[in-house]
Amino acid sequence: MNAFEADAILPLQDWGLPCEEIFLCAGPCSAESEEQLRKTAAGLAGCPLSFFRAGIWKPRTQPSSFQGFGLQALPWLVRIREEFGFRVGAEIGTPEHVDAALRHRLDVVWIGARTTADPFAVQGIADALRGADVSVLVKNPVSPDLELWLGALERIYNAGIRRLGAVHRGFSTGTDSRYRNAPLWRIPIELKRRLRGVPLICDPSHMCGRAELVPPTSQEALDLLYDGLMIEVHCDPRSAQSDAAQQLTPLEFRDLVERLVVSTESGDDLSYETQMRGLRHAVDEVDEQIIAALSERMAIVSAMGELKRKHQVSTLQPTRWQEILDSRTTAAQKRGLRNTFISQVYQLIHEEAIQIQEESLFRGRETVPQRG
Ligand code: PEP
Ligand code: MN
Repeated sequence: MNAFEADAILPLQDWGLPCEEIFLCAGPCSAESEEQLRKTAAGLAGCPLSFFRAGIWKPRTQPSSFQGFGLQALPWLVRIREEFGFRVGAEIGTPEHVDAALRHRLDVVWIGARTTADPFAVQGIADALRGADVSVLVKNPVSPDLELWLGALERIYNAGIRRLGAVHRGFSTGTDSRYRNAPLWRIPIELKRRLRGVPLICDPSHMCGRAELVPPTSQEALDLLYDGLMIEVHCDPRSAQSDAAQQLTPLEFRDLVERLVVSTESGDDLSYETQMRGLRHAVDEVDEQIIAALSERMAIVSAMGELKRKHQVSTLQPTRWQEILDSRTTAAQKRGLRNTFISQVYQLIHEEAIQIQEESLFRGRETVPQRG
């Protein structure tokens, strides 16, 4: 249960920001100079942007990295609004950032992934935002924790903010992935199910970490009925002081926008194709986890094989094997899986484990000097 009231969150069309077919945000990872912002905005002139983004305060992992220009850069962003007519937005991470952003009348502020993970920080920001006339986006937390994301949205909602949206920027999973931050699409799909009215924006830049993956991932998000995109665009990505590899040039961004195909939801229900795509993504992700878990299990099995060999213990341990079979079928049954199915799966796993350990035994014997 949560405290959101049905229909209280305003749909994007009522945010008072430009919003054609989709909500579209673009701009550099960081504001590096007024000139860099102006060149980037000039490259985006005429694009249907809901707002122009730029990082003013940068939450960098290393203190020696570029931290953003802070207060000095806020007037640059304001002048972009005056000169190019774009609405403007930036990340805020503290109540002081909120005060400064509101003083400069930014149109949008967003809470970054590292901040969403910290309920104290989010509450401080929510208190500073209370009653403010601003649109607020909440990025997903770095870790794949839906409840933290929902909790942060709820804190901002409780502060009276009704122009409230969620930004999906992928999750740090610690496992190898072609993404910088794995999408784990099932998490935002579940967020959208639990908070039906909340606009959902995809940030493929932080998800992909590489510019060439941004266009296909943007389309993937629209296929999954996302309401919009937040994309990092820099006038000269190679010289960027943060996130250089993932930023698009304004030209690449224009090309991407032109090619996007916007999916629509038919009637009240998701269309078959859209639902099916979501479910297939979910299955793909679970299968990747199954394979990663199996590989990890076999690596452990191999280490056990070495230990058995050193201590001259038999590969087959009938008592342990019976225990495994019994405990795993009981655990699986509790999760609604059939006995016969899980016992077949475990027989295959056990067979492979024995095989791996026997091979290591064989290799061990090979190293014994041959008597001639
Ligand atoms: C950003 O948008 O530049 C940023 C720092 O993103 P995230 O919080 O998703 O890492
Ligand atoms: Mn960035």
